Amino acid sequence: MYQTLLKICKNPIFVGGKVYITYGFMEPKYGGPHYGSDLVPGAPGMSDDVTAIADGVIEYVKSSVSKTLPLTSTSHADALGNNIKITHNDKYMTRYCHLKYNSIKVKPGDKVKKGQVIATIGNTGCSTGLHVHFEVWENGVRVNPESFIIGEKSLTITQSVKTNVKTFKKTTIDALNLRTQPSTDGEIILTIPKGASVELEDENTWVKATYKDSGGKIRTGFCAAGYLK
Ligand SMILES: [Zn+2]
Repeated sequence: MYQTLLKICKNPIFVGGKVYITYGFMEPKYGGPHYGSDLVPGAPGMSDDVTAIADGVIEYVKSSVSKTLPLTSTSHADALGNNIKITHNDKYMTRYCHLKYNSIKVKPGDKVKKGQVIATIGNTGCSTGLHVHFEVWENGVRVNPESFIIGEKSLTITQSVKTNVKTFKKTTIDALNLRTQPSTDGEIILTIPKGASVELEDENTWVKATYKDSGGKIRTGFCAAGYLK
């Protein structure tokens, strides 16, 4: 049987961190396309609680499945058992399946935090034992969850990227300094000539700016917004 212990999990879905994978993403021995990782707690005595892998909003909950179905019923509407979908941001969604009947603690629209208990591990739907079938959806496509559980990849997008409002402005002085930090203490990366076009990320006194230099190379730093219009 396929079994891998993910020893260091920065983003586990079980309290206590350690996770065994009993079937991996697209594991050939599964017998069909397997679009997730089958997970069980990776150490004896660990809690049966299932937790949110990252902050998000509950998108969907199915809680009506009280039975285990035969593995031949994969096209059945209840094949995934009780399950929860969490939207983390525009890019990522996660899904937790085969959850125990009557154990789900969240409803659609609830905000959840990383590590918050959302349900108990179960065996509902097409399943042969207690486990969580866990999926990561990236831009609507299911991808291998392992690197997200370990923490090599992140499910969260930083605020500055998300709230980016980009505008183009032209410099109004002969030489505008592009600096490494948003202050005159910042080292000068280069000076931008008058009338050049600069791409800005926001409208503060100091702005993060991108400028294409004479060699065509993209240079990013900070400059004073007062000299741009
Ligand atoms: Zn599975």
